[in-house]
Amino acid sequence: MRVLKFGGTSMGATPERLAQIARRVAEVRRQGYATVVVVSARGDSTDRLVEEALTAAAVPPPRELDQLLATGEARSAALLAMALDDMGVSALSLLGGQAGFEVSGAHADGRIARIDATKVRQALARGQVAVVAGFQGVNEAGDVITLGRGGSDTSAVALAVELDAECCEIYTDVDGIHSADPRLVPDAQPIPSVRNSVMAEMAYAGARVLHTRAVELAGRAGVDIRVRSAFNRRPGTVVVSDWKGTQMLESDDRVIAVAHDPDSARITMGAASSDAPPFGAEGFSLLAEASVTVDVVTRFTDRSGRHGWDFTVARKDVDAAMSVLTAFPCEVAVDARVAKVSVVGAGLLSDPRCAGRMLTALVASGIEPLSIAASQARISATVRDADCARAVSALHEEFLLGAVASPGVQTGAGAGAGTGAQGAVQAGENGRLGALAPTP
Ligand code: ADP
Ligand code: ASP
Ligand code: MG
Repeated sequence: MRVLKFGGTSMGATPERLAQIARRVAEVRRQGYATVVVVSARGDSTDRLVEEALTAAAVPPPRELDQLLATGEARSAALLAMALDDMGVSALSLLGGQAGFEVSGAHADGRIARIDATKVRQALARGQVAVVAGFQGVNEAGDVITLGRGGSDTSAVALAVELDAECCEIYTDVDGIHSADPRLVPDAQPIPSVRNSVMAEMAYAGARVLHTRAVELAGRAGVDIRVRSAFNRRPGTVVVSDWKGTQMLESDDRVIAVAHDPDSARITMGAASSDAPPFGAEGFSLLAEASVTVDVVTRFTDRSGRHGWDFTVARKDVDAAMSVLTAFPCEVAVDARVAKVSVVGAGLLSDPRCAGRMLTALVASGIEPLSIAASQARISATVRDADCARAVSALHEEFLLGAVASPGVQTGAGAGAGTGAQGAVQAGENGRLGALAPTP
């Protein structure tokens, strides 16, 4: 059994690209494997569909938008099945609902509740390649629900889990997971294998090469993910399930990658007037109810001893966050021109120099960290979005992740510097991570 997923970058937009993918799938099938392929919309066609929707309505109804966006993956699946057929390989394309994806939750943010893979299994039993449209399923009412941008990875992993495959192969336009986004850092190095929990932090921190939920699902189910290029034979990266016997040695403790998320926003909730209920546990609960995830959370105290909060949300969630936050009687400031840069790895707080090196490297490059949060697996800082690319390069260099030095060597230019920042670690409140003291 092989479960392969081809993303928009590899499906491309040209007939040659489609034929190239079909040849790759045909080769796997001809080796005798029961072959399941999950596909994304070709190239940037999902973005085009969003633009098209906006020409029809200023605010497209979420149900209709999902109906429209799901057609991108539907087209890919039908076209790939045709191309395979043309090569003499029998194939059957299936929409998400036909493949048995039962999805719950809101439009554009569906969660896979169950997969009844009967039709997929029947196709495999007939010797056909099952080509499944990713990113979509149907809810109990029979409506199409999409899984959120980048969600085809999650479709593929879920199907691999349902079909008891040991591995889900994700084919994309880069040779696997790198020490930073290779489009931003030319010197980024491929990582042969990475533990699932570390990959989950990278994905969460913005390394969009894998959908965060795909990594989490694979981790829970004990399925490995192999990320590799659709255009060459290099082995790529295996994301190894943590509980499959991978040993966590202390020598693994180090920064392995720099991730960035250019689509962040920073929200500052000023101190409430003394007679008003404070923003705090209740505020964060309301944000959670509105499906807004917060990160890099810091509580600060103003001169009169009252508390305020500072945190980041995804830029797409600003409106949803504001609809909750304006109910609180305190000043709310939103800065949507920030990016989040993170160093990711293991044992990061066990090495007291790590946070200091990160801050020192940013400041030495003339970049002001706006807020910072740290955990054993990730240290994240928000910076102005114009500084994002330089911040990623500076951190990649500081932690010696490029070609010349072997990763993890602890003698970088800033090694040992700035331990004072580490001293500023406070107990975080309500955030995912413990927080460092905020910048004033
Ligand atoms: P697909 O269409 O195959 O789903 P994506 O665009 O979603 O492709 O993901 C692949 C992209 O992820 C790469 O082109 C690369 O720019 C980006 N990327 C970000 N961080 C990393 C990283 N650490 N390693 C590899 N690729 C990364
Ligand atoms: N086509 C969808 C998107 O562009 C899903 C995916 O590519 O995984 O977000
Ligand atoms: Mg993707």
